[in-house]
Amino acid sequence: MHRAYENEDITVFWDSEKCFHAKECVRGCPEVFDITKRPWIDMSRAESARIWQTVSRCPSKALTCAYKHEVSIEFDEAAKRSTAYAGDSREPVGECDYRESEDGWVIVHTEVSPGHAGKGIAKRLVFKVAEEAEKRKIPVIPVCSYAAKVL
Ligand code: SF4
Repeated sequence: MHRAYENEDITVFWDSEKCFHAKECVRGCPEVFDITKRPWIDMSRAESARIWQTVSRCPSKALTCAYKHEVSIEFDEAAKRSTAYAGDSREPVGECDYRESEDGWVIVHTEVSPGHAGKGIAKRLVFKVAEEAEKRKIPVIPVCSYAAKVL
């Protein structure tokens, strides 16, 4: 399972397949990471710096994080893609495209404009498609090499 949790500043990614439940996160910041709740991560309950510090101590790297850089991610099922928009201008700065097949959603392309590379945007785009597929119980097949690496 892939999930992304966001506050104003940062995105926390969680990959359940890597988590071996060492509970470093729960010990480090129990207000935010509470496995008895759904969703189990509540980004509103601590400052970003503290969340970031806690995530950095995850021994399995099931938890990772990235600054948002005022870029938002939106999912469009009709267009079969997630898109990244920069700031108030809503300039599109990246996208992750998939196509539907009998076997699931096939991620075929992920791209971020050069001026926004290295900001974690591509990972947010891929996680958005994976999350939406998983919520619909649809398998994700990453053909795009970047998506395959992330997932
Ligand atoms: S610290 Fe990482 S490995 Fe441990 S429970 Fe949290 S997410 Fe899982």
